[in-house]
Amino acid sequence: MSKIDSLAERLIEFVARAAAGIKIDWSHVAVIAGSSLLSIVTEVITAVASDIIIKKNGIRYCRLCNKGPFTKKGMYLHLIRVHRYELKVAISEELERRIRAL
Ligand SMILES: [Zn+2]
Repeated sequence: MSKIDSLAERLIEFVARAAAGIKIDWSHVAVIAGSSLLSIVTEVITAVASDIIIKKNGIRYCRLCNKGPFTKKGMYLHLIRVHRYELKVAISEELERRIRAL
C-alpha cells in the first residue's frame, strides 16, 4: 500500500464525520497528517465531505446513492458501512492531486 493509500485509509473516519456534521478532533487529524501535510489534509477532508452529501433545508442526503434523509449519526454510519471504499478512493485522488501540485 502506498503512503497516500494508508493516509487515505486513516482519513475515512474524519471525512464521514465531517460529512455528517459530527464534531472532529482536529488535533487527532494533525497527528495523522503531520505538520507538512496538515493544510492539505484539512482541505481534502472538507472538500470530499461536502462532495459526498447533499443538504436540503439542513437535512442530509447521500449523493453517492441518493438515499436519505439521514440524521447526523445515521449519515455517518451509512457512509462508513456502505461507502467506505468510495470514500477512500475519493480521498486518495484528492490527496494525490494536491500533493502533486505542491
Ligand atoms: Zn449512500
